[in-house]
Amino acid sequence: MHFTSVQCVQGENFLFLVNNADDESSFTYEEKSGKGPRSWGEINPHWQACKNGTLQSPIDLLDQRVQVLSHLGRLNRDYKPAPATVKNRGHDITVMWKGEAGEIKINGTEYKLLQCHWHSPSEHTINGTRYELELHLVHKCSQGNLAVVSIVYKYGRPDRMLSKVRRQICGLSVDPKQDKELGIVNPGDIKFGSSRKYYRYLGSLTVPPCTEGVIWTIVQKVSLTFSIQLLVRFALVVFGFWRLIKPEWFCWVVVL
Ligand SMILES: [Zn+2]
Repeated sequence: MHFTSVQCVQGENFLFLVNNADDESSFTYEEKSGKGPRSWGEINPHWQACKNGTLQSPIDLLDQRVQVLSHLGRLNRDYKPAPATVKNRGHDITVMWKGEAGEIKINGTEYKLLQCHWHSPSEHTINGTRYELELHLVHKCSQGNLAVVSIVYKYGRPDRMLSKVRRQICGLSVDPKQDKELGIVNPGDIKFGSSRKYYRYLGSLTVPPCTEGVIWTIVQKVSLTFSIQLLVRFALVVFGFWRLIKPEWFCWVVVL
């Protein structure tokens, strides 16, 4: 993938998630460029959390650091079908819901589902293992705080959500301005695996300005069948766009 074109489309993507970044196109995932993840904190004074933050994501979910908590209960989600578009942003493929697509509830607070996108390989690792794919479902509450539900995939059976997106992906161009209508997309079709077991920790955006206070919920790895062609297609678009792991952070897992 041509490096310059990737830079352009990144800015477009992050505007959606991060509206206080002054210049979203001025960072990359390539350390050699001098603007890679290790340098993000120095590029912009508003991005210092990328360097100095204490709750930075992603992390390695290591058994030894996990505390088992049962009082958090099941992952409480109530998704519903809504019209959506899909866009190839050059470094990821994002599905954006235009209507009310439902919410998750954490500690009594509702976080509405806005969009989802994939990273390949996964950003979070489990006991040091990086998996093929990671889905981020981005939610926002009325106070503006973010909660991201992440699903880490390995090979296995497909879910209906990805089957739907798959039909559209083949015709996507890298033009960041080009949305493709998906029609009605039901986030309830996303295969979550067990809603009883998940990792929960307080982290950050994985892109500048690396804002902290993001509630992360990582569902344990879910099986997913990817045709080789689709995997290649995903990998071509999103491969290499993942942030360095922060192995030292603590996390919890819920086992009911
Ligand atoms: Zn993400």
